Amino acid sequence: MTTLQVHDKATREVIGEVAVARSDEANRVVERARTAFETWSRVPVVERARMLFRYADALERRREDLALSVSRENGKTIADARGEVRRGIEAVEFACGMPSLMMGDSLQDVARGVDSMTMRHPLGVCAGITPFNFPAMIPLWMFPIAIAAGNAFVLKPSPQTPLTSEMLFEVARESGFPDGVLNVVHGGVETAELLIDHPGVAAVSFVGSSNAARAVQERAVRAHKRVQALGGAKNYLIVMPDAVNAATCDAIMGSAFGGAGQRCLAGSVVVAVGDAGDAFAPMLVDAASKLRMGRGADEGVEMGPVVSADAIARIDGYVERARKAGVRVLLEPRAVPSGGWFSAPVIFDHVDPQSELARDEIFGPVLAIVRASSLDEAIAIANASRYGNASSIFTRDGRSAREFASRIEVGMVGINIGVAAPMSFFPFGGVKDSIFGDLRCHGKDAVAFYTQQRVVISRWPS
Ligand code: NAD
Repeated sequence: MTTLQVHDKATREVIGEVAVARSDEANRVVERARTAFETWSRVPVVERARMLFRYADALERRREDLALSVSRENGKTIADARGEVRRGIEAVEFACGMPSLMMGDSLQDVARGVDSMTMRHPLGVCAGITPFNFPAMIPLWMFPIAIAAGNAFVLKPSPQTPLTSEMLFEVARESGFPDGVLNVVHGGVETAELLIDHPGVAAVSFVGSSNAARAVQERAVRAHKRVQALGGAKNYLIVMPDAVNAATCDAIMGSAFGGAGQRCLAGSVVVAVGDAGDAFAPMLVDAASKLRMGRGADEGVEMGPVVSADAIARIDGYVERARKAGVRVLLEPRAVPSGGWFSAPVIFDHVDPQSELARDEIFGPVLAIVRASSLDEAIAIANASRYGNASSIFTRDGRSAREFASRIEVGMVGINIGVAAPMSFFPFGGVKDSIFGDLRCHGKDAVAFYTQQRVVISRWPS
């Protein structure tokens, strides 16, 4: 049996292990899910929703355990982990509304004596493949909505953070979901590919890096599956001269260094417009130099470790290459706590908007400041990105904000918001290389993704 060891990212201590599913085991799981689907899809939606209400309550009771699990296996601070669990529970609460969300349309007398209506049906077995950075929230974006709509679900969580998923499923079992409706298999790319290719899987939800998202989407489309694949990001935060203040600085600190920069909504480039940069850069440096690093679960810690030694090597590579290229370092990396995979905050200024520092997803605590002479130039810099997840503007001027919101090419727009994360009743996702497939996670998009429409046209003989 092959196992995956899971580490506390702040200490490298092994905190658990999970068994990697062999291909015959993963096949059996899909078959079990397929069988469960036959019964579950016929359970009235009101009863399915009732079970989700129970699940939301049970998660609420376990939320501190879940937050601790997230904090240990991911590394993020306990406050961030609590916020993540809260967001996840909100997605379950959204799924509780499925009786209304699944409603179709109807129209009488579309022709004489002929009526039409649409009905939404579940798809079958849906698979979810999830990343390490939100071990509770991202699985909860997927399976509650899928199963409330009458599907069965197989989750393959990140091999770096699989323990929280186990806890989510343990709580689900306690809430009374029938056997086979919710399933988890562990492993890496091979296990994910097995699920994508399996003829018993009808649809694939993926969240991860863009190269993987593209590969997953192409593979799923070849197998004629429905697929949504959310990818990576590079998010630009535009600071106008009228917004150089402590509130903007706080928002940008949280955006750039929250989760040690490992968020798909992390604002990793500040585009300072006009003279904003000269006043704002020292504020950012001062705040970032004071961030307290340490084990996420410990009191007072503001930034935890990153996920692995590979992540550190990747981040250090970017910092070293930029330094060699002569980019101005405003905040040098400082000594990090011993034991874990820590990476210190770094800030570069006057970064070339075409350079890798301003264009690549570094996924670590590295902030690039780019200077722009006008809002037009700032928007053009952001829009030249291959990614289009989120972008924010900081300003007191409504016209600038309006201009920005209508011209910026992203899926999630923030106005004086550091992390523009839509709540579960709105869709979450980007454009360009930040998404492959059409429908986003949660909100009405997810209801459309996990259901298919049928149109019934009827005439009754007189
Ligand atoms: P990753 O792409 O390495 O892995 C994500 C998941 O996909 C894991 O379960 C992994 O085992 C699996 N996987 C990897 N390559 C695969 C392949 N070729 N085929 C099938 N499955 C594959 O991502 P990660 O390092 O775990 O997470 C970080 C990435 O996720 C970042 O790029 C981040 O921006 C992105 N992300 C995006 C969003 C979003 O909403 N767009 C949200 C969170 C994270």
